[in-house]
Amino acid sequence: MRISVIGCGYLGAVHAASMAKLGHEVVAVDVDPTKIERLAAGEAPFFEPGLPEILTEALASGRIRFTTDMAEVAGARVHFLAVGTPQSPTGAADLTYVDAAVAALTPYLSAGEFVVGKSTVPVGTAARLAAEVSEAVPGATLVWNPEFLREGFAVQDTISPDRFVYGVPDGDAGQAAVDALDEVYAEALSTGTPRLVVNLPTAELVKISANAFLATKISFINSMAEIAEVAGADVTALADAIGHDARIGRKFLNAGLGFGGGCLPKDIRAFQARANELGVGESLAFLADVDATNLRRRAHVVELAQELLGGVVTGKHVAVLGLAFKPNSDDVRDSPALDIAARLHELGATVSAYDPEAVVTARRVHPELDFVETAADALSGADLVLVLTEWTEFRELDATTAASLVSSPVVIDGRNCLDRDAWTAAGFTYRGMGR
Ligand code: NAD
Repeated sequence: MRISVIGCGYLGAVHAASMAKLGHEVVAVDVDPTKIERLAAGEAPFFEPGLPEILTEALASGRIRFTTDMAEVAGARVHFLAVGTPQSPTGAADLTYVDAAVAALTPYLSAGEFVVGKSTVPVGTAARLAAEVSEAVPGATLVWNPEFLREGFAVQDTISPDRFVYGVPDGDAGQAAVDALDEVYAEALSTGTPRLVVNLPTAELVKISANAFLATKISFINSMAEIAEVAGADVTALADAIGHDARIGRKFLNAGLGFGGGCLPKDIRAFQARANELGVGESLAFLADVDATNLRRRAHVVELAQELLGGVVTGKHVAVLGLAFKPNSDDVRDSPALDIAARLHELGATVSAYDPEAVVTARRVHPELDFVETAADALSGADLVLVLTEWTEFRELDATTAASLVSSPVVIDGRNCLDRDAWTAAGFTYRGMGR
């Protein structure tokens, strides 16, 4: 099928390359010429495991084309919208990019074609855009097919997700959209991937409520970490024990620095803003606590660092291992790790920061930090070590070697990812999260 993908960021670039892998003919558009040049040259503009391989394969097959010229999408049967919906200063979602993309697309849209929203938008947006599209191009239909991919697993999640959700209007147009999407995703559907057909607002809400639930689960376990710390309990053992209950489940119950990235923080704020607009703000009042608990984790680690440095941060050498908001990603948007590194720098510490993939993205936001090439460089002469992203490389660090490099063997394990016994045996004062 001829497909267009509008927006080539973390979501769109992976979606476009994955669609080509599935055998579709793809035109991928972005307003950023540098990103398009890199993608057209077969270079992934960000770190995502598996993306370089499927991108190279797609370009070699001739099934994908990258462009800044929207006119090239003409003739595609399905047009995926994958532009950003960042947080605006009020906390609400900024829909400027979505609106601009739809306005730029409609002149090239024809009857019988489908505009398929993938971006995360406030409930009500799809209905508004659907009306705009059908007015501009009678016979064209806008539907919503929210995306649930996880950075770090984005290719796999795009090609074979846990489920598909199609938000479509009633009637023939809705059925035609379902048929078109079924054709796009035929491969995964043939293996039994569940596919739920719902109305437009339900599809928008499925995505945002899934993120609200995940954020709540993380803040729940971080609240337990706060209690465990003062009560002398171990939150990891607690999570293991409650996680055995199938109704609870062990996933997303890792206490640590909380969530970050380009989705959960902005999505829970946008959800609250939208609920307020709809006059049901109280229904989501708990999300303010979820957000506050999450942000408290960062403050807690900064305070702990100050305490372990004897109250004086100025002039101290702090090793920060991890800058990305999570492992297997170079994404530092709203990253707790980078936030903590920057705050320690502000307090006067010399911060030697290392991340296997996120140094380039982190340097763009906080050029004042001292970025180093290896974990050993960061550890060298450190008065305090902070492990802030749970990369496998850090889990596997040899504690004895680390002890030989630092000035003072003190470690904060912000992700509870180190072998506490091994680090303690190597002579480190070890402080985890909620244990
Ligand atoms: P991003 O900022 O990485 O990418 C957005 C891209 O859209 C950028 O490359 C930008 O240049 C481009 N763009 C902006 N306006 C455009 C226009 N008018 N025409 C063409 N391109 C345009 O953002 P992202 O992380 O890919 O997120 C995109 C959307 O997907 C958001 O709504 C996000 O919430 C949602 N989402 C993201 C993820 C994720 O893990 N990143 C997962 C699920 C859903």
